[in-house]
Amino acid sequence: MKIVDLRSDTFTLPTPEMMQAIQEAELGDDVFQEDPTMNKLEKLAAQKIGKEKALFVTSGTQANVVSLLAHTERGDEVIMEAQSHTYLYEVGAMAALGGLMAHPVPGNKGVLYPEDVKKAIRGDDIHFPRTRLVCLENTHNNAGGIAVTPEQIKAVADVVKPQNIKIHLDGARVFNAAVALKTDVKTITKEFDSVMFCLSKGLSAPVGSMVCGSEEFIKRARKARKMLGGGMRQAGILAACGIVAVEKMVDRLKDDHTNAQKLAKGLSELKGISIDLDTVQTNIIIFDVSKLGGSHKFIEILEKKGVKCLARDETHVRMVTHRMVSSEDIDTALERIKEVVK
Ligand SMILES: *Cc1c(COP(=O)(O)O)cnc(C)c1O
Repeated sequence: MKIVDLRSDTFTLPTPEMMQAIQEAELGDDVFQEDPTMNKLEKLAAQKIGKEKALFVTSGTQANVVSLLAHTERGDEVIMEAQSHTYLYEVGAMAALGGLMAHPVPGNKGVLYPEDVKKAIRGDDIHFPRTRLVCLENTHNNAGGIAVTPEQIKAVADVVKPQNIKIHLDGARVFNAAVALKTDVKTITKEFDSVMFCLSKGLSAPVGSMVCGSEEFIKRARKARKMLGGGMRQAGILAACGIVAVEKMVDRLKDDHTNAQKLAKGLSELKGISIDLDTVQTNIIIFDVSKLGGSHKFIEILEKKGVKCLARDETHVRMVTHRMVSSEDIDTALERIKEVVK
């Protein structure tokens, strides 16, 4: 029985071209910034995202942590969406490592209202921490892979920037957003002082994320990465895959989105499953199975039938499409889900 693995796009294995690129990579010591392949990837990422410089880091979590450390001082407050990855799933790193206070603000399907951000910004009062940074997420994972539009971003940036507060993008899947919105990724990243994106998700590289921003910011981020033990030596082995990811793997994300649409439509026709099709814009699908006895039971039975996925919470299931799941696999998955629902 072929397993259809819809747990995450992080399960994508490197492509044959990536394995070839590893063998041919020119290498050096990247802590000394003498790894030519890494230097090439960092230049390429900065160009694509539209910032002065870029830095390779070990993971998306490390990308957000070094960005927050580079923007702030201890005791500063950071505003972020209440269901964001940085707030929920990064082991409290911002507090533990940065001495930062999180100020979560609930959004609507992952999108922050500018009025709410404005209210959350602290005024000049001796009792208050200083609001130093606002973080947005695009696509918004917990909202079901919503692609936040450049207009929605600008509306938030317009209330943030006049207050001399920086704005960071957790763009783990920002290329999915660009593909879904049919726009150059730079129209999405334009307003941000810093942007991170993952090479290791839909783009299929084995390891790594990129942080992009001004020269001065990246210098601080590089130092923060070293402090966290993320200074790597012949990291060109990983960068070689990253170059293939950025140059060759972006356009095919549309196939993942097409598969997600097909899967979501199939799910919406099943009794007991409740899904908001408006939220299915990229490669993530979140649906409600409370009428079927909850997410954990659903997932357990489905796994025995050869489809893997994850629970978002007690009532919601998350499925993610990616390069290792074909259109035929979606048909197979839907057949098996139908049996479980029955
Ligand atoms: C996956 C993800 C991260 C973290 O990436 P890791 O490489 O798993 O640490 C950060 N933000 C968002 C929105 C993500 O989906």
